[in-house]
Amino acid sequence: MAERKLNQENWRPATKLVRGGQMRTQFQETSEALFLTSGYVYDEAEQAELAFKGDLDRYVYSRFKNPTVSMFEERMALLEDAEICHGTATGMSAVFGALSGVLCAGDRLVVSRALFGSCRYVACEVMPRYGVEVVVVDGADLAQWKEALRHETKMVFLESPSNPTLEIIDIPAVAELAHKAGAKLVVDNVFATPILQSPFTLGADIVVYSATKHIDGQGRCLGGAILCDAEFSEANYVRFLRNTGPALSPFNAWVLLKGLETLALRVQKHCENARTLAAFLEKQKAVPKIYYPGLASHPQHALAKAQMKDFGSIIAFEVDGGKKEAFRFLNALKLIDISNNLGDTKSLITHPATTTHQSVEEAERRRMGIGDSLIRISVGLEDVEDLKEDLSQAFEII
Ligand SMILES: *Cc1c(COP(=O)(O)O)cnc(C)c1O
Repeated sequence: MAERKLNQENWRPATKLVRGGQMRTQFQETSEALFLTSGYVYDEAEQAELAFKGDLDRYVYSRFKNPTVSMFEERMALLEDAEICHGTATGMSAVFGALSGVLCAGDRLVVSRALFGSCRYVACEVMPRYGVEVVVVDGADLAQWKEALRHETKMVFLESPSNPTLEIIDIPAVAELAHKAGAKLVVDNVFATPILQSPFTLGADIVVYSATKHIDGQGRCLGGAILCDAEFSEANYVRFLRNTGPALSPFNAWVLLKGLETLALRVQKHCENARTLAAFLEKQKAVPKIYYPGLASHPQHALAKAQMKDFGSIIAFEVDGGKKEAFRFLNALKLIDISNNLGDTKSLITHPATTTHQSVEEAERRRMGIGDSLIRISVGLEDVEDLKEDLSQAFEII
């Protein structure tokens, strides 16, 4: 493999997205090479011994490291200005790894209430089983963060914007409180993408992604990433991830590398379409409530503007009535697909209460603002006029 080019750190984001981390083989291929190999061979037994001792830095087994995965990790790290990125099999293995690599029985974890269903399961059901004390706060209420972080805490986990109600959390303020409590702040940056929000510059210590969402962005494969500094990674993640095995498949890493190349362009268009659709939905008679941080009516519009470059591709809204009307609306759509995935080129729509957040207990779901009439749309890259027409004909039916 060729030496890594110097000064990639100085490239602007668009250049990092296209070229960051590429390692060319002796064949001088244009595109990143796909190394579908589980193992690696040694010239002599002594090499293998040195590699396993850690005295020789080379590829030994793809659960530890794989060249295609390394290119993805390097590109992600460059993009976030992070020292280390660990590629993982899914976004959830990134979330689980980021927390369980660090937390021990007796530690305290503070999380925001408005989390993706599986993140809530990990934080609120799995971690307590391992003896971790878990405190849930209303993420938009700084007083609750202040109160919870008066006590010594090991980690803080939050999502901003949140899924599905697009709540915005004041990341710099929470980071300051977390650090005073001795905690490391983990930010799940899936909804914002690396293009719209840089959690490290806002005070985060660890950033996690589901690369399944906008990073692939074309509905093809699962993947995830944990980013942090080298010292923290060495102390908490390197051995943990190697031995517990949430490794990213080289094939998926290759797809994700290709996804990153067009990420900025896609996100820009996603945001443009979402902005247009949010304004359109806000005017509908059958829509009593809409959640989109780009709208002046969003209670945290100013905060979103301060910490994000644009407002993302996800909109949530309520329709008049309840579950029956919401289902009728979804079933009436002819172009937009019913799917719980998001960040895809195709516009996707879902009913969070019965899908992504079905496992959340009903009272807690209501506290999270996820009622029976709530609908979430992930706005894709189609012509926005076609999307409006599809939504309009569905509004006429309910
Ligand atoms: C989808 C999602 C995840 C989980 O990612 P997977 O790749 O599906 O495992 C985690 N956090 C958020 C905010 C998500 O939207």
